[in-house]
Amino acid sequence: ENMKIAFIGLGNMGGGMAANLAKVGHDVRAFDLSDDALGKAKSAGCQTFGSAREAAEGVEAVVSMLPNGAIVRDVYESDIIGQAPQEAILIDCSTIDVATAKAVSEKAAEQGYAMVDAPVSGGIAAAEGGTLTFMVGGTEKAFNDAEPVLRDMGKAVIHAGDAGAGQTAKICNNMLLAISMIGTAEAMKMAEKLGLDPQKFYEISSQSSGYCWSLNDYTPMPGVGKESPADRDYQGGFATALMLKDLRLAMAAAEEADAATPLGARAASLYEDFNGAGNGGLDFSAIIKTYR
Ligand code: NAD
Repeated sequence: ENMKIAFIGLGNMGGGMAANLAKVGHDVRAFDLSDDALGKAKSAGCQTFGSAREAAEGVEAVVSMLPNGAIVRDVYESDIIGQAPQEAILIDCSTIDVATAKAVSEKAAEQGYAMVDAPVSGGIAAAEGGTLTFMVGGTEKAFNDAEPVLRDMGKAVIHAGDAGAGQTAKICNNMLLAISMIGTAEAMKMAEKLGLDPQKFYEISSQSSGYCWSLNDYTPMPGVGKESPADRDYQGGFATALMLKDLRLAMAAAEEADAATPLGARAASLYEDFNGAGNGGLDFSAIIKTYR
């Protein structure tokens, strides 16, 4: 069904997502602070506006894809809550801290809006191809309202739980990914150091209990395993700077919840160092370069 949808934040991810909504026939009302992003959205079939508030006029849904929690809070509190029609479903797809996601959702609920946090798994290619996975936090009603909109931008839409549960799922998943990637890199380099051919190690461990996505499908060593960013000088893929962003969010949430995360903390500090050494643009599997 054709819907009137405001889309706020048309960057690397949001640009492709908004284009996919326009492509299936939705009336997409787009806003971004960048003129360049607005121009691209226009070419992709979106209508563009000079503020989030104007974009949200008369819509049935608001979707946002913004850099961080402070911006998400500001956009929703100043321009969406109390401005968009109260029946509109509010959908924030940004990756932000759990506490802000809960707070903004609560603010929205106080004013009678249904809202979900719906962060994504998948990068720019998945955003453009409409194959993102959405992990959604919010009430049953909010999830049901958001689902058809999210379906038009992704391949899977999963209800994680109440408000904040989408962000929780995302950062816990990415913390696990960081730990498993570092573990994979460490084991492969140690095997090599001990004189075992890395290809042999891959062949054995990928069929043994060392089996994991980082080893089997995203092997961090060039020339070993399946084709991965390692085989392209660590270009493309999932940038170290973005992994670090997610690990920082994970550490903040762990502290707030008083969860013990010794390996998550170690992974965060290794990625802090690797990022600080100027490697933020490399795929996160390049962490293997820090091993001798
Ligand atoms: P980006 O920086 O390319 O895009 C963000 C956009 O938001 C920019 O175009 C910017 O101009 C706009 N913006 C900032 N403040 C604004 C405001 N007040 N009003 C309107 N527009 C505003 O970032 P991105 O890579 O598209 O990432 C967006 C979100 O998606 C982030 O939360 C990120 O963590 C998450 N994410 C990114 C990836 C990825 O691979 N890039 C993957 C998964 C999740």
